[in-house]
Amino acid sequence: MSSGGHHAHPPKQPDIEDGPYSWHMALTDAVADLLLAKGVITGEELRRTLETIDAATPARGARLVARAWCDPAFRTRLLEDVNAAAAELGIDAGAIPILAVENTPELHNVIVCTLCSCYPRYLLGAAPDWYKSRAYRSRVVREPRAVLAEFGLELPDHVRIEVHDSTAELRYMVLPLRPPGSEGLAEEALAALVTRDCLIGTAVPRVPAES
Ligand code: FE
Repeated sequence: MSSGGHHAHPPKQPDIEDGPYSWHMALTDAVADLLLAKGVITGEELRRTLETIDAATPARGARLVARAWCDPAFRTRLLEDVNAAAAELGIDAGAIPILAVENTPELHNVIVCTLCSCYPRYLLGAAPDWYKSRAYRSRVVREPRAVLAEFGLELPDHVRIEVHDSTAELRYMVLPLRPPGSEGLAEEALAALVTRDCLIGTAVPRVPAES
């Protein structure tokens, strides 16, 4: 099956295919070919998994946050075990453990993968390009306050910033603070306030000013 450079697995992402074919891409393709050739996985299973990952959007993470804001017992369970809490809502958070880091009035959390691009894809969908950039990965650790300001997030001096470095074994999501002015909102409306960047920590949820 791996002969002649034939690939039984689905085509790679176009944006990746347009770049140079790197050592890591060759390794990924070779491993995929081997797993298929040895019958460890089928092409159908591989396709289904890729579709599951591609179907994930930040709306999943937002649902967890909104439920945590409305249900203190769920919030406790989410902080203990994100993957199990997600399963309660019928959300498959994947096999890699995800830890929720909770913002407080004194503490702001932001996530990064300094090594590569580890990201809770099952909860948030594909990582934005800037998350994978060398600039973000290196700078957010050294000067988080300046980087967040560039995202338009100016934090008061008394708010401490913690940067969490994701790995292949542990991923993070930020549990943001429920914003002022959201007291009367139902869970679904609350979830709409929680953007992808709120879950990464480069933004905080805000209630839009009434026009
Ligand atoms: Fe990584």
